Amino acid sequence: MKLFKCSRCGNVLYFENMMCLKCNSELGFVPERKMLDFMDAIDDQRLTYAHGTNGNTHRKCNNYHYHEVCNWMVDTAENEQFCVACRLNRTIPDLSVGKNKELWYKLEIEKRRLVYSLFQLGLDVSSRNNDPDGLAFDFLADHDEDFNELGRVMTGHSEGLITINISEADPVQREKMRTNMEEHYRTILGHFRHESGHYYWERLVQDTEFHGEFREIFGDERQDYGAALERYYKDGKPVDLKDHYISDYASSHPWEDWAESWAHYLHIMDTLETAYSFGISIGPRIKKGDDPVDIDFSPYKEKDFKVIFDQWLSLSFALNSLNRSMGHPHAYPFVISPPVINKLEFIHKIILRNKRV
Ligand SMILES: [Zn+2]
Ligand SMILES: [Zn+2]
Ligand SMILES: [Zn+2]
Repeated sequence: MKLFKCSRCGNVLYFENMMCLKCNSELGFVPERKMLDFMDAIDDQRLTYAHGTNGNTHRKCNNYHYHEVCNWMVDTAENEQFCVACRLNRTIPDLSVGKNKELWYKLEIEKRRLVYSLFQLGLDVSSRNNDPDGLAFDFLADHDEDFNELGRVMTGHSEGLITINISEADPVQREKMRTNMEEHYRTILGHFRHESGHYYWERLVQDTEFHGEFREIFGDERQDYGAALERYYKDGKPVDLKDHYISDYASSHPWEDWAESWAHYLHIMDTLETAYSFGISIGPRIKKGDDPVDIDFSPYKEKDFKVIFDQWLSLSFALNSLNRSMGHPHAYPFVISPPVINKLEFIHKIILRNKRV
């Protein structure tokens, strides 16, 4: 994720900010320009805004104006009430219920980060509202208080519709689930990234020139999905294929392997862009002669996945060590084996081929 700068006072701004903490200006993210900057209200309701360096006027997304769960703007010429990210929502949580607003806020923050990454990758992000092949989100709550993966609302993807059980935004519930499922990593952002992988598989792999190669690398997805998952939950990951997957769950079925690998690809790209924005340089002082690593490139512009991966290796070691110094578990608790590098490289190739200018 990039860092932004308030062009009124020079303060550093973060993607999620709604207000500049130095000059108190209201902020807005303009998705078509991938720019977060101050906005001056030009109407009494504080709905329409102008930005100093840009002739266009923008309005706050309704979810910004009325609920403060979004900080994105809409060009007034578009005549839309919601920003491009919120237009993807089909169902939002019932806001009359307890802490649903708070859970929704947490979901929206991570959803916008996903959408930003998809834009950076040059992928088509259209809403189902105006494109039958577009994407839609349902944020649903279990009626059953006791959240569990086999409960009524399953987090998952089906033909462009991504359903998220809003309990995933509750850290207590999520940690309970992570422990029950014996996972090393479970985050809201991870869910968004994983489920978007299923969606883009249908758009970028299924019935395309890449479908055959997909089967060679990930396996034949025509095997019975339900039976495969049942087998996975009963027997776990096949021990002899341990090094072939980025996570245990990835071993359950080729579709899940793809979605898990896709999520990791997005983890890597976003984290490297953040490191690049901060000008991070890593030179472990263990033995002399080791070349320091400067994260001096934007991963979204890099064609060669090997370059991305080499920098990621150094960065993730440092990231994990820093986390351990704070008493936290590893930020990136995964080992990327050669077969997995191959999968990530394949994803990189497909994305580059589909990149819109
Ligand atoms: Zn400012
Ligand atoms: Zn919005
Ligand atoms: Zn999945």
